[in-house]
Amino acid sequence: MFNPPPFQLHDGERQVLESRPWISTAEFAEKHFKLVTGRHKGQTYRLDQSPIGRMVMDLWDRPMIRTVFWAGPSQVTRKTTTAYACMAAEMFRDPCSCAVGMPDEKTCNRIFDEKIGPHFKQTKVLRDLLPTDKQAIQKGLVLTNFGAVYGMYAGSDASASSISPKVVLVDEEDAYLDKMSPERMVERNTSWEDEAKTFRSSKVRGNERQSSIWRAMKEQAQVIYEVQAVCPNCNHPQVMDFKNIKVPGKMRDPKEILKQSAAWYECEACKFRWNDHYRNIAVSRGHLYAENDIENITSAGLVTPSWLFSGMSLSKVMADWFIALEAGTPARLEWFDNSHPSKPFKVITLKTPADQIKAMILHDRPARVVPAEAVALTMGIDSQKVSYFFVVRAWAKSGESWLVDYGELGNRSALEIQLEAVYPVAGRDDVVMPIWRKSIDIGGTRDPSRDEGWSRSEEVKLLVMELDDDSFFAIKGASRKQDTVVRRSETGVHRDVPKEYQENVTLYTLDTHDLKDLIFMVRMQPDSLQPMWLHSEVGDDYLRQMTSEERDMDKNGNPVWKPKSKGRANHLLDCEVYAAALAHPEWTPALQLLPEPTYRRVVEPLSSSESAGFSRSPLAGRNINPNYGGRR
Ligand SMILES: [Zn+2]
Repeated sequence: MFNPPPFQLHDGERQVLESRPWISTAEFAEKHFKLVTGRHKGQTYRLDQSPIGRMVMDLWDRPMIRTVFWAGPSQVTRKTTTAYACMAAEMFRDPCSCAVGMPDEKTCNRIFDEKIGPHFKQTKVLRDLLPTDKQAIQKGLVLTNFGAVYGMYAGSDASASSISPKVVLVDEEDAYLDKMSPERMVERNTSWEDEAKTFRSSKVRGNERQSSIWRAMKEQAQVIYEVQAVCPNCNHPQVMDFKNIKVPGKMRDPKEILKQSAAWYECEACKFRWNDHYRNIAVSRGHLYAENDIENITSAGLVTPSWLFSGMSLSKVMADWFIALEAGTPARLEWFDNSHPSKPFKVITLKTPADQIKAMILHDRPARVVPAEAVALTMGIDSQKVSYFFVVRAWAKSGESWLVDYGELGNRSALEIQLEAVYPVAGRDDVVMPIWRKSIDIGGTRDPSRDEGWSRSEEVKLLVMELDDDSFFAIKGASRKQDTVVRRSETGVHRDVPKEYQENVTLYTLDTHDLKDLIFMVRMQPDSLQPMWLHSEVGDDYLRQMTSEERDMDKNGNPVWKPKSKGRANHLLDCEVYAAALAHPEWTPALQLLPEPTYRRVVEPLSSSESAGFSRSPLAGRNINPNYGGRR
C-alpha cells in the first residue's frame, strides 16, 4: 500500500527546510521571534532581560526532555511568551502541528487574535511557513504548510480529539474550571511517543489539592528545579529565600515600603544587600538548580518565585506580604503564597498548645484594669442553658488587645449587671471605661450537637430586644464559609412568641473560622502586629477552653476548626471570637474610627442627678462593677 504524503512541498519550501541548520531555542528567540505585546513589541525576544526565559529554553532543548512544567506568577515571568517561543522554535526546526490549551473558548480566540496570529505574521521565519493560497490565520487556528497550530480549551475536547499535534502547550491550567482538562490536553500528542513535547505553565492557584500544575508536576517531574542566583559581591550561588528579603527595623507600612523602595535581599553568605538592580544581576548570573539533579530526565519542573524577575521589585513583595499579614485571613495569605513564592497555599494544621496561649500572659498586667493604650472595650457572651460565659477585651486602634475580664454569670440579672460594667483605666482616676459593644450568640445552627432547640435562640433574641441597648447585639456563627467576616442581617422572632414581640432583630453572622484563624495564627503570637495579650490572673479554665479546638484539614483539603475531643468546653474561646468580631474592621462603624477613647468621667458617687445622665439604661445606678475599687 502506498499512502501519498499528507502534503506536497513546493521547491521553495523544501529549500527553506533543507538549508536550515539546527539552532537552539534561545538563539531562535533572540534572532527571529518577534514580541507582539508589551514594552518591547516589534523587537525580538530579549534574552538579556529574561535570564530565566533562557534557562527554560535550554531546559526545553535538552535532548531527552519531553515535558516541562513551569510554575510561576502571572505577568512578570513572561511564561506564555517564552512557551510560544519554545513552540515556535520546535516548528522552525521541524515543521509540525502544535496545540495550545487555554481556559475557555473566549480566551482561546482572543489569544490567537492578539498573540499567536501576530507572532506568525511578524516573525519572518514563521510567516514563511504559512500558506499563501488560503487564509492562514483563523479563529482559534493557524494553518501552516505542514499542519496547524490548534487552539484547545476546557470543554473543547470533542472537537480537538481528531488532532494529533507533536507539541502541546497548556497555558494557565490552574485557571481552568474543569480540573481534568489539562490531563486530557496533554494526551493529544501521545501518538508521537519519543518525539512529543509538552510545555505546561501556570500560576499556582489554591492549595495543594486544588492546583493541577502543582499536582501534576509533583507526580510526573523527575526533577523540580529552582533558580540559584549568584551574589554580585561574593559569587556565592543561592536559591533566593523569602526570609532573606528584608525591610528596615520596624518598617511595616506597605505604602512607606513602596515609597522608599525600602526592601533589599541579603546575601546568605556575605550579607551584602542586593537592591533590585543587584538582584537582576544576581539572577542573570544564575542557573537552574536541584538538590538531587539527575541527567537525561524526560520530565522536569521549575518553580520561580516572583522576586526573581526584574519586573517585580523586592519592595512590592514585602508590601504585599505586610498587607496579607495584616489582613491575616487565609484568603489573603493564599493569594500571597500563590502570587509571590509561587506555591500552593498550605493548609496549616494547628494544635493550639497551651504554651502558645501562655506566652501571651503579661505578668505585670492586673485583671479588670483597662490599659492606658486602649480606646474601647468589647464583650463577647456565650449563652448556655443556665448560665452565660463572657470575655471583656480592651482594644487599641492598632488591633493590639488585652484581656480585661472573663467569667461565668449564673443568671440573667447577673448578665444585666455585667452589661453595664465599667472598668478602671490604668494611671487615671478621673475616668473609667464602660463596655463599648457587647454581643451574645443565639446558638442554634452553629453547633448541631447542642440540643437546646430553637427556644433557646428565641429566648436570646427576646433578651436583646427587651434590653433595647443599641450597643448590645445578637450574633451567630456562620454554618458555612462566607465572603465577609461579619455579615449584618435582620431576623424575625419565631411566630410562637407573643404578638407584641413580633419584630425584627438585627443579627450579625460571623465567620468564626476566619476569626479563629486570626486569633491563633496572627494574634496569639508575641511578635504579632496585633498581639492579643492576657492578664496575669488567667486561670487553667481559660487556658483549657482556649485550647479546646484545633485546626485540621477536611477530606476536601480545606481547613476546619474542630474540638480536640467531643464535648470539651469551648465557651471562653467562643467569647473571645465574639469580642474580636466586635472590634473587627468589618463591623461598622469600625473601632478604628473612634475619635477618642470611650472613657466615662468619674463623678462623685453622691451626685446621683449627674450620674443618671451617663446611661439611658434603667439599670444605671446598678452599674458599679463589684471588682472596681478604683477611687478612694
Ligand atoms: Zn554575597
